Amino acid sequence: MDDLKNYMRVLKKLGFEEIILENYREEKVLTVSEKKKLLDKIASEILVCTKCDLHKSRTKAVPGEGNPDAKLMFVGEAPGGDEDKQGRPFVGRAGKLLTKIIEATGHKRDEFFITNTVKCRPPGNRTPTPWEQETCWSYLEKQIEIIDPKVICLLGAAAGYAFLQRPVKITKERGQIIKWNGRLLFLTYHPAYVLRNLQAEPVLLEDIKKAIELAYS
Ligand code: SF4
Repeated sequence: MDDLKNYMRVLKKLGFEEIILENYREEKVLTVSEKKKLLDKIASEILVCTKCDLHKSRTKAVPGEGNPDAKLMFVGEAPGGDEDKQGRPFVGRAGKLLTKIIEATGHKRDEFFITNTVKCRPPGNRTPTPWEQETCWSYLEKQIEIIDPKVICLLGAAAGYAFLQRPVKITKERGQIIKWNGRLLFLTYHPAYVLRNLQAEPVLLEDIKKAIELAYS
């Protein structure tokens, strides 16, 4: 600040009366209800989206849900069977585990925003292809922009791939914090992996605790 003041004094001595700041853009801070309206608008676009073939086999698209003003977003891979039926993210067995773990940290699921890298269920619960993730990316990107979370917790390797654009070895990379577009990415296991590897549950609990602490710090 002192350097800036000195610089301004020098400019004044040199006879400058004003400084035009090009590219100056006032960032508008959205209210929670404005955020909600914008998220609802995106959700209504997702519900009728046909941009990739995943729309052909879906029952319901799953835009995501939660606090429009969340400090922390959870992003998983893709909706599964229960999510496809209900149109809500993380409501099957893996979702129940995620909710249980969030509650074990003393928090509530609806404090956060929960979504996936693609909003329609891949047939047979296969991993979404990079092309499908890329085609669906603009929805997630807009959700992030509106919610403006400090931390994005990536659940599993496919979520890691969508953000980092490289293969992620989640067993090696989990627990890592990565700076990304002015936010922090936190990598951890997908709860579905933990259901198949129960010894990993305490690790997921610790990771989610850390992600929440990071978001509220
Ligand atoms: S997965 Fe995404 S891009 Fe593909 S149809 Fe569904 S909403 Fe559209």
